[in-house]
Amino acid sequence: MPQILDTALDAVGHTPLIRLDKIAKANDLKCNLLAKVEFFSAGGSVKDRIAKAMVIAAEKEGRLIPGKSVVIEPTSGNTGIGLALACAIKVAHPIASSREYALNTTDKGYSVIITLPNKMSLEKEALLRALGAEVIRTPTEAAWDSPESHIGVAERLQRAIPYAVILDQYSNVNNPLAHELTTGPEIIEAVVSTPSTSEHPSSGKVDVLVAGAGTGGTVTGIARAIKKTHNKDCIVVGVDPKGSVLAGTGSNSPSDNVQYTVEGIGYDFVPDVLNFEDIDQWMKTGDDESYAAVQQIMRKEGLLVGGSSGSALSGALRWLQSDAGQQIANTEGLNVVVLFADGIRNYMSKSWFLQIALEAEPSAMAGVISGILGKE
Ligand code: PMP
Repeated sequence: MPQILDTALDAVGHTPLIRLDKIAKANDLKCNLLAKVEFFSAGGSVKDRIAKAMVIAAEKEGRLIPGKSVVIEPTSGNTGIGLALACAIKVAHPIASSREYALNTTDKGYSVIITLPNKMSLEKEALLRALGAEVIRTPTEAAWDSPESHIGVAERLQRAIPYAVILDQYSNVNNPLAHELTTGPEIIEAVVSTPSTSEHPSSGKVDVLVAGAGTGGTVTGIARAIKKTHNKDCIVVGVDPKGSVLAGTGSNSPSDNVQYTVEGIGYDFVPDVLNFEDIDQWMKTGDDESYAAVQQIMRKEGLLVGGSSGSALSGALRWLQSDAGQQIANTEGLNVVVLFADGIRNYMSKSWFLQIALEAEPSAMAGVISGILGKE
């Protein structure tokens, strides 16, 4: 990468792969546990990548007209943040220098409207508004195909607003493709280019990938990159919250009546971009285990991850303890990669975060301090 980047869009992706050695040790794992940490991306999540890819592709196809088009998107927030960021910037693309583009373009980029279910955090709404987007909240419990859902409201607005475009992460091929072309290759490159040492033995391959599924674009795209170009035997584990319909069945009917507060993963329908053939196993996760895992990731590894990252880690650890995963867990040098999709700064006002932060075990210094101050 060049030292000086042209825009924030050039700081999308290129995220680090970080060892979770302390967590691996605490769980008696012999394999390597590695995290792809996506909050380092410009907009703070894995979804920046698809937002950038969908906008650039739509510009090339002539679906977006700079200064005129209104981008509307139903999202759990992170795709919206990526889109608002991309649309705030004048997007660089191959026709950017053409006369037609120059005549049409304005400094404004595109207007953005985001439809966001009520359960999603205030932090995401505030960030969207700060980036210049309009935000409409929708009832969390509305079925995906009802006119009141975030998808339904987006479609109603699109029909009424001139030049409105829904890039549609649920069906847009550029969603999984962005991960097949960037997230997956970055993971492969990091693993392949890291030599095996006595301290850190390595198979030189990605042996297992674990990622949460919302649209399913992340897990599908990374799985394709790994299986097509690197290791066809890689085991891909999808993580789906209890109460969501995604895991395994491919059916649109709810698996149970559990309500979950984790944001960004799970759905009440199966998006087109989720390809079941690319996913070998599914793990179901609950809110409590996810948030407990976030606390462990912070305290043990110093990584400020969001709730779905906790789900991904919890799913990964339970899979490694299962019959299917045990042999992997007990083999030195095998590489298990877990995707951490966003950061905790999206969730600072959520009660679950305040609980794990403020009601955590007191630090070692708490007793020392009260001993000193109590004596004064
Ligand atoms: N975690 C978070 C926090 C997300 O916002 C998303 C996107 N919905 C995901 C995980 C899942 O990503 P994908 O839509 O690619 O399945």
